[in-house]
Amino acid sequence: MANRLVDFHCHLDLFPNHEEEFKQCAQQQIEILSVTTTPRAWKRNKELAAGNGLLRIGLGLHPQLVAEGHNEIELFEKLLHETRYVGEVGLDAGPQFYKGYDSQRKAFERVLRMCAEQGDKILSVHAVRSIGEVLRQIEAHFPPGKGKAVLHWFSGSKSEVKRAAELGCYFSINAEMLRNDQRREIVLSIPKERMLTETDGPFTQVAGRPSEPSDVAMTLTELAEILNVDVKGLNLQILKNLAVLESA
Ligand code: MN
Repeated sequence: MANRLVDFHCHLDLFPNHEEEFKQCAQQQIEILSVTTTPRAWKRNKELAAGNGLLRIGLGLHPQLVAEGHNEIELFEKLLHETRYVGEVGLDAGPQFYKGYDSQRKAFERVLRMCAEQGDKILSVHAVRSIGEVLRQIEAHFPPGKGKAVLHWFSGSKSEVKRAAELGCYFSINAEMLRNDQRREIVLSIPKERMLTETDGPFTQVAGRPSEPSDVAMTLTELAEILNVDVKGLNLQILKNLAVLESA
């Protein structure tokens, strides 16, 4: 337990050799949340994850797919009772997806309302150029007590960190969030008891290849350096944060 790593946002099903990736993870001691981008992927992901007690699968409805018109919220709704973990969901107001922002907002609101209604859900949330709106929606439709949200690849400001923390949010931190001084400053403002780690593999790279869950070890080491704490202690803190997140 003491040596387990935490990768609380990756996409095992999007690796080119994904069946191999699932098998490999089953042999490693890593606490994983593997998110999906469409509810159509749910069944197959659950099959591939079967027997791995450290691997959680998120039921997803990715905002970029919603923006492109692939709005499968009905299937999402039908499957939601099967899972505690939801992701990847959220909003993306980047230039490529902005034209679908209205439908994204409607879909995200519906997701939050459904999750609040069923209760006890843990969400992995995407927020690109939309953290203000994401937090506004969480406050309105998914407030503390109705479930828990983990902000993945947070790219907001220090005051938004504060606001998110007040709303009970956790933060899954990846290597890209530690790339420069400005980003590190933001990460330093995240309360330690709300920190988790992630890779977002295969969408981030390590040494010219897609990052895998085990690469989260590097992020943990870097994060410990930035926080000026010892790696083992930080690992324990993150495992404790995960345990608290997952306690009812
Ligand atoms: Mn992702």
